[in-house]
Amino acid sequence: MKVLDVLKDAWEKRRIVFPVTCRELAEALLRENSLNYEVVCGGSRVPGRCDWKRRAIYLSYESENRCLAAVFQAAHEVGHAFHGPMPVVRALSLFWGAYLVWLLLCLWGGLAWSEGTWRLLLAVMACLFGVRIVDSWFDELRATRYARNQLKKLVVGDTEKRALQLHFAAYCLTHIVLPVSFSAAFLSGGRVFWCFGKLLGGSGIC
Ligand SMILES: [Zn+2]
Repeated sequence: MKVLDVLKDAWEKRRIVFPVTCRELAEALLRENSLNYEVVCGGSRVPGRCDWKRRAIYLSYESENRCLAAVFQAAHEVGHAFHGPMPVVRALSLFWGAYLVWLLLCLWGGLAWSEGTWRLLLAVMACLFGVRIVDSWFDELRATRYARNQLKKLVVGDTEKRALQLHFAAYCLTHIVLPVSFSAAFLSGGRVFWCFGKLLGGSGIC
C-alpha cells in the first residue's frame, strides 16, 4: 500500500490528471455495462472496495478528484463489479469459520497433542490459505487489467501512458504481495494458540 501512496503523491505533484473525475468514470463504466451500483466517495478514511452484496462501490477519493490514482481506483472497483465475485469470496464466511475452528484445534493441540501434529495442522490450513491467495490474485489482477484497459482509452500523452503503466505494475505487485503477507500473519496466529495451549497444559512456553 505504501508504494501506491507514494505514486498517488507523485501523480498529484506532476499533475497527471484525466478528463473525467473518479465518480464520473465509475458511473460511466457502470452505465456502459448496465451495472446497478451506487458510487460512494468517502474521502481518504474509506478504503476503495466493491461491495457486491450492497451493490455499492466505495472510493477513497473525493468525487471531484481527477488524478491518476483516483480514476484508476474507480476503474479497478468497477472491474470487480464487472467480473463478479470469485468462488472463495462467495464462500468467505465458510472460510473464516474454518479458520476459527482451526485456531481452536491449535489451542487444543498445544494442550494435548505432539509437536508433529502442529506441522500437520499448519499444512492443512496453509493449503486453504493457498487457495484463498490464488483466488484473490485472479480477482485483483483481472480488475486491475480492466482498469488499465479502460484508462488506456483516455490517455493520449506519452507521460500519461508511462504513468499508467507504472501505476498498473504497482497495483499488480501490491495485490500479489498483500494476500501472501496477510496469510502468513493469520497462519502465525495458529502458532500463538498452540503455544498458549502448551502453556495451559503446563508444558512451558514454545
Ligand atoms: Zn481490488
